[in-house]
Amino acid sequence: MSDCIFCKIFAGEIPAKEVARTDDVLVFRDLNPQAPHHLLVIPKRHATDLGDFVAAARAEEVGDLFAAASRAGRAASPSGYRIVVNEGVDAGQTVFHLHLHVLAGRNLDWPPG
Ligand code: AMP
Repeated sequence: MSDCIFCKIFAGEIPAKEVARTDDVLVFRDLNPQAPHHLLVIPKRHATDLGDFVAAARAEEVGDLFAAASRAGRAASPSGYRIVVNEGVDAGQTVFHLHLHVLAGRNLDWPPG
């Protein structure tokens, strides 16, 4: 999508601190980290949120996204990490291209705020 910031990051049109990349998934560092390790995992295919993504995705596509997040989390911290997906205004979603947050490197409170 032409005016989507994460589509532009995937395409390399906006700089980002990339951690891992495949043809379909990109892992990069969050600009405003909420933990010592705060990564974002995005699919190449634009979808506004998780609901829209899974409505059109093959199971393999969903699996690849979570596999990338899991690998990134374990690499960041073998002692634990958290995957967060915000969908919609109530959850605080601010960028409307599906992204998985991977947070690690500190004790993560539960329940989250
Ligand atoms: P959410 O509130 O779940 O939509 O999360 C959006 C996340 O994207 C926030 O944690 C932002 O800090 C992050 N973010 C926004 N723009 C950029 C960017 N250009 N590079 C890296 N992270 C970004």
